[in-house]
Amino acid sequence: MSSLYPDDRLTTARDAARRGGVDALLMTPGADLRYLTGYNAHATERLTCLVLPAEGDPLLVVPVLERAMVAASPAGSLDLDVAGWEETEDPYAVVGTHLRSALGRAPERVAVGNRMWAEQVLRLRDCLPGAELGLAGSVLRDLRMIKTSAEVEALRRAGQAIDRVHARMGEFLRVGRTEREVGRDIAAAILQEGHVSADFTIVGSGPNGASPHHELSDRVVHAGDVVVVDIGGTTADGYCSDNTRTYVCGGPAPGEVADYYAVLLAAQQASTAAVRPGVTPHEVDAAARDVITAGGYGEFFIHRTGHGIGLEGHEEPYIVAGNSEPLRPGMAFSIEPGIYLPGRNGARIEDIVVCTADGVDPLNVIGRDLVVLPG
Ligand code: ZN
Ligand code: ZN
Repeated sequence: MSSLYPDDRLTTARDAARRGGVDALLMTPGADLRYLTGYNAHATERLTCLVLPAEGDPLLVVPVLERAMVAASPAGSLDLDVAGWEETEDPYAVVGTHLRSALGRAPERVAVGNRMWAEQVLRLRDCLPGAELGLAGSVLRDLRMIKTSAEVEALRRAGQAIDRVHARMGEFLRVGRTEREVGRDIAAAILQEGHVSADFTIVGSGPNGASPHHELSDRVVHAGDVVVVDIGGTTADGYCSDNTRTYVCGGPAPGEVADYYAVLLAAQQASTAAVRPGVTPHEVDAAARDVITAGGYGEFFIHRTGHGIGLEGHEEPYIVAGNSEPLRPGMAFSIEPGIYLPGRNGARIEDIVVCTADGVDPLNVIGRDLVVLPG
């Protein structure tokens, strides 16, 4: 666990802030705070805020009743001062006062976490008169996008956990059950197989499979239905899984499905094979899209090819046309082309992969063929 949250990360982030001309980073609960400190705080109306000035010491401002949780987290073993505020204190004033004393002056440019609540942003702004506020994402993206080997192993454990859920799909996905019943069982299996939360369960049966973000409905699964199952969760160390396989339930698939599934599989393989340092996300997207277009289904692939993954299920880099920032070793993202025939059915194949020094490291290894379940 300790190497997942190395104790030099605050220094690295502070240096990045300084290089970016930012006087301080302010982080409330979420992936950025967890990335920097290992503290997985619950976001509530009580302010928890990491104050990371470009000069001087960082400070974690927390409700006094949550101090023990900080101590029990990886943040407890960092050299990080913690200020517990009492119920009648103004924690925003604590942030402002610490920043001015650490810098020895009023801050001019402050970067807040991209997902900070608006009410917190506005109250912090009031406590930092004259400071220009920006987004911390521009400072942290270069750090968070490049996974350490400990992070890659955490993502691999998450990938193996979700692969085990797919391997059990015949237990859940059967003719006569509703998507909601199937989804409930899948969510339980996501927890049983090594996650602490089941973040999403997409069970798109028959025509619902043509809607890429369909979740669950009361539609009953019929014999011969094609079913898109896209599922993911978060493991105890904070890293996410996300994996899609497409099934046929209880009987042969409609003939068209076998045709386009072969195209889809070739597209997913071409896109994965394109991954290596220096290649752009635009090119990785095109590698999948070109195969699908050549197969005659281009108009039915209606989303980008993938997204980054780590402490968040969707993060940079986005594998999308127009993204020309070259891949670097350590970037982790999904490859998930799909073909969706409105009103009929759809299919998607999704794996998480990591760009390595000389190619690609797939974190999901379960088979990618269309799986026919007995029903
Ligand atoms: Zn997915
Ligand atoms: Zn995904």
